[in-house]
Amino acid sequence: MANYRKMAAPTPDPESQPFWDAATQGKFLVRKCNGCGKVHWYPRTICPFCASDETEWVDGKGTGTIYTYTVMRRAKEPYVVAYVELDEGPKMLTNIVECDVDSVEIGQQVELVWVPTTEDGPPVPCFKPA
Ligand SMILES: [Zn+2]
Repeated sequence: MANYRKMAAPTPDPESQPFWDAATQGKFLVRKCNGCGKVHWYPRTICPFCASDETEWVDGKGTGTIYTYTVMRRAKEPYVVAYVELDEGPKMLTNIVECDVDSVEIGQQVELVWVPTTEDGPPVPCFKPA
C-alpha cells in the first residue's frame, strides 16, 4: 500500500540539526518568529519576513492542504511532488505518499507522515491524504 520511494538521507547543518533530531523522535518542528508572529518554512534563524532573530522552534500541527503538485511519471513508480500549505501558513515542498497518484487534487487536506531514508538518516516529512 505504501508507495514510498527510497529517499536520500538529509544532511543536517547546524541550523537544521534540531529539526532532524526532533524528526528522529517523530516530532515535527516549525520555526516561529516572535518579531512578526509568522511561521516560516524551511526553518531559519533569521525570519525571512521581518529579519528578526527572535525566532524559536515550535511544534507544527503536521496538517495542511495541497497548494500545487505534479506527478513524476517517468519514475519506475510514479510519485507526487507537491507544495503543501501548512495550516500555520508557509508552503513546503514535499511528497504526497500513501495515495493513488491519480487521486491527488489541489486543495486536498493532507497530514504529515514520516518517510524513512537511506543510511539510517532521519526520516523526512511527507504528507498523505487526511
Ligand atoms: Zn518575523
